[in-house]
Amino acid sequence: MTLSVAMCEVGMLPTNCYLVQDTSSGQSLLVDPGFYDLPLRQMLRRAKIKSLDYILLTHGHYDHILGAKPVKEQYGGKVVIFAEEEPFLRDTSLSLVKPFLSEYPQLDAADILVHDGDTLPFGDGEIRVLHTPGHTSGSVCYLLNDLLFCGDTLFCCSAGRTDLPTGDFNTLMRSLQKIAALDGNFRVLPGHDRTSTLDYERNNNPYLQTVL
Ligand SMILES: [Zn+2]
Repeated sequence: MTLSVAMCEVGMLPTNCYLVQDTSSGQSLLVDPGFYDLPLRQMLRRAKIKSLDYILLTHGHYDHILGAKPVKEQYGGKVVIFAEEEPFLRDTSLSLVKPFLSEYPQLDAADILVHDGDTLPFGDGEIRVLHTPGHTSGSVCYLLNDLLFCGDTLFCCSAGRTDLPTGDFNTLMRSLQKIAALDGNFRVLPGHDRTSTLDYERNNNPYLQTVL
């Protein structure tokens, strides 16, 4: 498996959207298409993507999911979300879209509902699902080789907020402990702000340091 990773920022916040291509198998996936706006269109065009295999959603907040429907219509790809997080796709009080947008592309259902420890085949390897609740109850991280897509659970030198529906601080801290205990170093690819590495976060992130 020979992976290449591209990132673009979508939406107003903005949100990091990642494109992973396996040049060996020709497979590709997208993580958290918050909005199908110009930066995402350009990233997909530049990478000469014809079709996607997966659209991975780390959690159900609107700024991570609203591009999933139009991207799927254009490029295909199985939409993946944690099973108990799926209601976020339809419930605007959970996705928090209502106060911000009156019109939006709503996906009615995901194609694959995952649980902790599930794997999805990709290239000659697999994507691993790590349930990391706290920011929302159904937040997950996706692991692929040395890549750790952590949504709004872990940020460079920070962690996700827990004051939104289904969020819980103590649960988040337990999830951060799980992430800190992963074997080896990873590229930390969060849903917002700078990317990092897990070793850097173990040494510098005040949240991780309290659980190590
Ligand atoms: Zn979020």
